[in-house]
Amino acid sequence: MYDVVVVGAGASGIMAAIAAARSGCNVCLVEKSSRIGQKILATGNGRCNLSNSAINSAICAGVCEDEKYYLAHSLADAYNNPAFVADVLSKYDYASIIAYFNELGLLTTCDLRGWAYPKTRWANSVLDVLRNAITRFGITVMLKTAITDIIPCNNGGFSALVGNTALNANKIVLATCKAQSYSGLSRLKIMSAQPILGPLQVPAQAIRGLDGVRTDAQILLIRGGSETNSKANSKANNEVFSEVGELHFRKDSLSGIAIFNVSRYAQTGMMLCINLMPELTYDELNELLQKRFRYLSDATMQEFLTGMLHTRLIASVLAYAGLNPDDYISKQCLQQISMALTNFRLPITGLPTFAQAQVTRGGYLTQRFNSATLQSQDYPGLFACGECLDIDGPCGGYNLHWAWASGTVAGMSAGTL
Ligand SMILES: Cc1cc2nc3c(=O)[nH]c(=O)nc-3n(C[C@H](O)[C@H](O)[C@H](O)COP(=O)(O)OP(=O)(O)OC[C@H]3O[C@@H](n4cnc5c(N)ncnc54)[C@H](O)[C@@H]3O)c2cc1C
Repeated sequence: MYDVVVVGAGASGIMAAIAAARSGCNVCLVEKSSRIGQKILATGNGRCNLSNSAINSAICAGVCEDEKYYLAHSLADAYNNPAFVADVLSKYDYASIIAYFNELGLLTTCDLRGWAYPKTRWANSVLDVLRNAITRFGITVMLKTAITDIIPCNNGGFSALVGNTALNANKIVLATCKAQSYSGLSRLKIMSAQPILGPLQVPAQAIRGLDGVRTDAQILLIRGGSETNSKANSKANNEVFSEVGELHFRKDSLSGIAIFNVSRYAQTGMMLCINLMPELTYDELNELLQKRFRYLSDATMQEFLTGMLHTRLIASVLAYAGLNPDDYISKQCLQQISMALTNFRLPITGLPTFAQAQVTRGGYLTQRFNSATLQSQDYPGLFACGECLDIDGPCGGYNLHWAWASGTVAGMSAGTL
């Protein structure tokens, strides 16, 4: 019999187990695979982008109802469910999560964008300090143990089933990333899962020859816009989301951080409008093209764009503008070039698959959980944290931050309520 059983030893489950153990509980951390925290090692390309300094509001400390409203709004650009996360992040913002990791022994660093990493820039360092804490706080770890069902007991507490064997606990914390349905917890409502933060498929033909090219770009996601004469159409009413960042061309898809963030809002049939010169305003770009025309008036189209764009992008931009790379540049075609550079449109033909995506949208319906304690309203004594709740954020450390913060709240609540 344990005080608390945590199901799933990923980022949020490990945090929950440590928090519950720190409040004096006898804790068992159950993991179906052969190692704990495996996904942590893959995060941030092996460097673990563990938090973001933007999750840092002056109003995060001592929130009153009005301040909670403002905090939720300041998080609205980041999380899909800002009002729910505000309660947790008001207790565990960037500064407190970093301080917590420092206490566990991890030194961290933050880049100019506010993305936080271990000072070693090595994800193993994060997992190592968590492992040490698990040992120090006497947490029992059961590996290769998949919980198949959870049954509430008549006299309080739960039985977590591993096949025919039962693990008994007063409290359960669910931290399985994917929200699972259990026959004993039939009142738990699950929002269907959708993979996000992954590449978007576009017609291979339109980006032929660009596989591997990386460039900075503004990606504007719009509804519709597929009509052949729509290049110059107003986009304003159809704008869904816009992001500036790295764009990575693949054989039949687009990738990179900007695309990953766009994928949170994308649907098949929507249009990506790519601006390859995001650092310039429309007028500045036209001024630049005029200036280049003065210097390079005897150049071919190809030569005119050389040095301005990745070489392999030039052919695609000119093809999109309907211009021949070997023709000589003329004043009349500057407008076409400007349009192709700033409004290169590609229809979305496919969304990220589960295997490609970094995060899954969907999970346990947050409305049925108390946002301050992460306790289920349907099953008192049952808590959930991390990605298995219907919470997701953009790239930049937001998802791991949610995992650490929600894990701490769920574990502490399970240990003290
Ligand atoms: C390639 C990649 C890179 C990423 N990079 C970043 C990044 O740099 N920054 C960032 O903020 N986010 C990043 N993310 C997202 C981030 O890793 C997740 O949001 C976070 O790990 C979710 O934590 P979690 O505890 O909810 O789930 P997980 O870390 O997935 O842990 C869930 C655990 O539960 C176990 N489990 C599942 N079912 C059962 C069961 N029935 N019984 C027992 N155990 C079970 C699983 O085996 C797993 O170990 C990345 C994700 C990926 C895939």
